Amino acid sequence: MTEPLLDIRGLSKSFGALRATDDVSLTLLPGEIHALIGPNGAGKSTLIQQIAGGLAPDAGRVMVNGRDVTDLGTADRAKCGLGRTFQISALAMENTVLQNAMLGAVGATRSVWRFLKPVMQDTHLCAEAKAAIERVGLQDVAHARVGTLSHGQRRLLEVAVALTLNPKLFLMDEPMAGLGAEGTARMTSFLNDLRREAPILLVEHDMDAVFTLADRISVLVAGKVIATGTPDEIRSNPDVRTAYLGD
Ligand code: ADP
Ligand code: MG
Repeated sequence: MTEPLLDIRGLSKSFGALRATDDVSLTLLPGEIHALIGPNGAGKSTLIQQIAGGLAPDAGRVMVNGRDVTDLGTADRAKCGLGRTFQISALAMENTVLQNAMLGAVGATRSVWRFLKPVMQDTHLCAEAKAAIERVGLQDVAHARVGTLSHGQRRLLEVAVALTLNPKLFLMDEPMAGLGAEGTARMTSFLNDLRREAPILLVEHDMDAVFTLADRISVLVAGKVIATGTPDEIRSNPDVRTAYLGD
């Protein structure tokens, strides 16, 4: 049996009377992309937040690489290998792509921009940041200000920033959102390669991307997983078709 890198067990979260996630269990295996799909308001982002540590669950456990991280905060979970893409707002628009990647690599946020200079002189860090930028194909704009990048390039930079922390697995909440056809194709091809290094729990609305990329798909409806299976199994599952795929 292959050990899951991520093993979530019975996660639940209510907001008042609303059960946003309701006894959700799923795993992420080495090398796979496990997509999480479902209608708006199904609880996908809530679940990702619970796994990342930004939102304390009412019940359930989160295991990363065999370790129970349920009681750890976001930063400590990241140290255990849990990577997630940053929000665009976390990027510093006035700084360059390379500077952003280097600051991301030390877990810096805007509040520590004043430490920019010492960080930028760290040659090891610089090499790591450059490698991450190259991985996502942004080497040609390494010295461009983030504010001048396209939306798609910023999305790739978010992934590069996350990569500098050498995550064992990734959580991604709608990485294709707002990308045009070209950006989506680029991100799809990149994620397709990335899974070999770090498996990905992927929340995504773009069904073409999901059915192209996913090894397994789980369908969340009203906070509950109603089905988990291969793309073919999910496509032909009558409950899924009724609840979500719009038949
Ligand atoms: P999805 O990402 O699948 O669209 P969400 O996880 O964002 O769904 O939301 C699930 C449900 O929980 C929705 O009904 C949403 O309105 C509600 N919700 C999400 N976050 C909060 C919050 N902080 N307070 C109250 N309700 C919330
Ligand atoms: Mg969401």
